[in-house]
Amino acid sequence: MDCVFCKIANGEIPSKKAYEDDRILGFYDLDPQAPTHILLIPKEHLSSVREITPENSGIVAHIFEVAAQLAEELGLSNGFRIVTNCGEDGGQTVPHLHFHLLGGRSMKWPPG
Ligand code: 5GP
Ligand code: ZN
Repeated sequence: MDCVFCKIANGEIPSKKAYEDDRILGFYDLDPQAPTHILLIPKEHLSSVREITPENSGIVAHIFEVAAQLAEELGLSNGFRIVTNCGEDGGQTVPHLHFHLLGGRSMKWPPG
């Protein structure tokens, strides 16, 4: 499949890894929007939040557990943000489910 994040997950495209286990991968975003900007993805291809079902939603819980652990390890004690963009209006540019873990600066609300 011609999916950039599947290729990162299987090592075809190199990435700077922040976390890896058998089900998920965390790697640093190429174009960081904050001092800490990590992408967390399931290794299994899911296009977006739209493909989360009762059968596969455990992966999302796992990603959030790891995100909280990473935030702690990376010293984001002042807070952080986890974002997932979905579809065109959501600003999704890579059609493989991913969660942005952003920290190290004060975030604005509402997002643009
Ligand atoms: P989206 O816009 O879909 O929410 O987020 C996609 C993110 O993937 C963007 O922040 C973009 O910088 C990042 N990205 C796209 N291609 C690559 C890549 O090949 N390597 C890495 N590390 N990040 C990428
Ligand atoms: Zn994919």
